[in-house]
Amino acid sequence: MSEGTGTGFSTRAIHAGQTVDPSSRAVVLPIHLSSTFLQESPGEVAEFDYSRAGNPTRKALETNIASLEEGHGGAAFSSGMAAISTLVMMHDQGAHFVVSENVYGGTFRVFNQVFARQGYQFTFVDSRNPENVAAAFRDDTKLVFVETPTNPMMHIADLEAISGLAHDKGIRVVVDNTFLSPYFQRPIQLGADFVVHSATKYLGGHSDLIGGLMVTTRAEDTEKVRFLQKSVGAILAPFDCWLLMRGIKTLGVRMQAHERGALAVARFLEAHAKVEKVIFPGLTSHPQHELAKKQATGHGGLLSFILKKGVDPAKFLSSVKVCSLAESLGAVETLISQPATMTHASVPADRRAALGITEALMRISVGLEDVDDLIQDLDQALSRA
Ligand SMILES: *Cc1c(COP(=O)(O)O)cnc(C)c1O
Repeated sequence: MSEGTGTGFSTRAIHAGQTVDPSSRAVVLPIHLSSTFLQESPGEVAEFDYSRAGNPTRKALETNIASLEEGHGGAAFSSGMAAISTLVMMHDQGAHFVVSENVYGGTFRVFNQVFARQGYQFTFVDSRNPENVAAAFRDDTKLVFVETPTNPMMHIADLEAISGLAHDKGIRVVVDNTFLSPYFQRPIQLGADFVVHSATKYLGGHSDLIGGLMVTTRAEDTEKVRFLQKSVGAILAPFDCWLLMRGIKTLGVRMQAHERGALAVARFLEAHAKVEKVIFPGLTSHPQHELAKKQATGHGGLLSFILKKGVDPAKFLSSVKVCSLAESLGAVETLISQPATMTHASVPADRRAALGITEALMRISVGLEDVDDLIQDLDQALSRA
């Protein structure tokens, strides 16, 4: 099975792209480390010539993610930021992009501090209201870049509405689908033209690799991306491609368990006397819960909460024992962080304040430990804070 269309999600996660190696008939695709490939005669290339341009292990992963996101082509990059940067470089200098205002901090940084200096233009909007996105459209707008849900504020963007408004003006839409993964959210079905991922998070799932993926919907875009990858060398190494495919095979069962854990933790925190508020799209208290339910089949494992006044965030964070105080998310380990001083420290202070990212705001990526242990851990850490 190479494409796997028409079959279920987890069947495709396990089989799509996994061709059988004829020399060994190995069930698991080999890691092709070779940088170069034999040619029959000068210039007569079979499928692969040099691994920057194409590699059999990378190809398997790229076929796999294109199948899971239901797109045309996939491309594997050395990181999520490399995928996002390549997407910008697919456009000419001067192009204008409309961007969700609380995108991942690294995305904000590369747009504002790298690409803005090269003549690209970015307008940041609150994408909870599709009208805000449309109001920012200009004649030179090429792309809408949305993340949904956003982190750490868990704002939801209506992908169908935004795609409709953008397409009316000939503007393409890209969705950073890192937080829900294709298991819970399929942006291309909702109208998106591109999907990008930090595969470092749920797709890899084990905190042991850095990788990025892009999925396109048109043949000409797939070609453009491959040309750029080959030209600038933004590719994922064969070993990491293999590791990522290993993670993706269990994506379905992991996402179900992450969500179950997150819901239990969210309900515990919502009832706790030292917690002001819990922000999780899976709770009916989330203002966009209905939209979240409409466009995704689940809510993932990421949630934020605000400590009540007088509760010491530093004391709380240094008291956790099962949860790990660390950046990143989407892995088997539960990771807890203080966005204001960690993941979002590079966001200017006034912007942070406007978004509500205060020192009392905590973020948890609920892992796959026994949920009773996580709740007990949070309870004892809260009692010390
Ligand atoms: C982590 C992350 C990125 C960046 O990905 P890297 O693999 O760290 O380069 C981009 N978008 C989102 C939503 C992320 O969480």
